[in-house]
Amino acid sequence: MDATAVEAFRARYRAVIHPRYSGRLHALWIAVAGVSVVAVSVAQLHDVKALEWLVLVVALLLGNVGEYAIHVQLGHRKKRWAKLFYQRHTGDHHSFFTQANMQWQNPRDWRVVLFPAWLIIVVVALIGAPGAWLLNTWGSSNAAWLWLASPAPMCSTKPSTSLIICPMAIGYTGVCRAWRRWRTCIGYIIIAMT
Ligand SMILES: [Zn+2]
Repeated sequence: MDATAVEAFRARYRAVIHPRYSGRLHALWIAVAGVSVVAVSVAQLHDVKALEWLVLVVALLLGNVGEYAIHVQLGHRKKRWAKLFYQRHTGDHHSFFTQANMQWQNPRDWRVVLFPAWLIIVVVALIGAPGAWLLNTWGSSNAAWLWLASPAPMCSTKPSTSLIICPMAIGYTGVCRAWRRWRTCIGYIIIAMT
């Protein structure tokens, strides 16, 4: 998209943001929710063993790999059952911010950067809580609290992860497209030679 097309898209996007939307409140909510989950979890830890710290390492690793995989498979590739996610990510996020135009103009533009406000609750409820329950049942309470603490900060730090994950996803998608083109070319060459 050239600069004029980006500006035209931005104008259309901004026009439909609810007048009462506050980017600062949105960011504050996500930060407070994330920090609260971490603070409550950390306050429950007692005499953490080395093996229990491993839960945090594994959780953060899985979280990052999972976020990257969801980005590539659903955010950068259109799937019929995840059209809304694709529309929000490639349709909105990557049309609003391009490699040549990464700046926001005011906090209302954060709507297209931050995760939806409800997502942190869903992530903690559907990923954090069940894992913590299992670890508490089969492992230890320290392991459970460390697991619970891990997904929330990833939701809160979405703007910074976007700067790493999106370029990786774009690069990976580009390599896949190039490979598909080369594969087709090689196929034609083989057919022509046989
Ligand atoms: Zn992306």
